Amino acid sequence: MTGIAVIAAATALFMLLGPAEKTIPGPPYSHYRDSPSPMRLIQVLSGHPRAERRERVRLALGQASIDYFEQSFTVGKFKGINLIADVGGDEGAPLLIYFSHFDPVPGTPAANDNASCVAAAIPALVRLKRTPPKNLRVRFIFSDGEEYGFVGAGAYRKEYGYENVVGVASFEMCGIGDAIGIWDVTGPAVDSKLVRALRLAADGLDAYHGIHGAVPRFGSDHRAFAGTDVAAVGVTLLPESDEETLRSYVDNPNNPVWALNFMRPIIFRTYHTLEDIAETIDPVAIELTTGLMVDTANILDR
Ligand SMILES: [Zn+2]
Repeated sequence: MTGIAVIAAATALFMLLGPAEKTIPGPPYSHYRDSPSPMRLIQVLSGHPRAERRERVRLALGQASIDYFEQSFTVGKFKGINLIADVGGDEGAPLLIYFSHFDPVPGTPAANDNASCVAAAIPALVRLKRTPPKNLRVRFIFSDGEEYGFVGAGAYRKEYGYENVVGVASFEMCGIGDAIGIWDVTGPAVDSKLVRALRLAADGLDAYHGIHGAVPRFGSDHRAFAGTDVAAVGVTLLPESDEETLRSYVDNPNNPVWALNFMRPIIFRTYHTLEDIAETIDPVAIELTTGLMVDTANILDR
């Protein structure tokens, strides 16, 4: 390699690996509207502030002919709106709740956390609408304020309660990896119908899955149901090869080794940073998540 080639290679590497300096807003909604796909939805959500993301989720639901209702709430200074879409059995049927929060950590692109799971949920709704569960109602909550302490999920629980709820799964970071992590499997979630169904669904999709107990530092919307008798878990995609690193990260988040970004589990290298961009997302992971949402509901319906 000549000197110039070395410099060029080093520059390319820096551009590839160097830290982003600011969040670049994704394309206008028309980019998705004209040719809808989960990847395009992630692109049009990425880098936009909370209210704009919410508006784009509304538009995407409308475009897919999904009926939904809105829950406005105020918690302290936080004003939010959850978007809620039901599919399947009628009002009194057992209820399975899927959360996919749309709000970003302010100023970050928030592609994997959590545009990815929103983008997986919309095709799941479409598929379930086509062949709806009969004995089960599936409620998809596109929640607001997750990054502010699960306030949208908390407001949901406060207003609607949890009678009839067979399980709550909060989908978090659905866009990186080939394996499914089911976490916070503790209390009523242990040996629950929900966790059994998620595992069966993962097996049916030929996807490796791992179960993890309580995760102290990191939470998600399902935590709003802690202390109840409802099985409530988080669901996250990860590279199977990264399983051990991820387990030790969540079990011991204060280990100084994690200050080195490249030592962290892959999904946490971009988490809540300017690097959480659409380019890191694998459409195959999104498809797997969609399949998991659909198949878990169908298993619970039987
Ligand atoms: Zn999140």
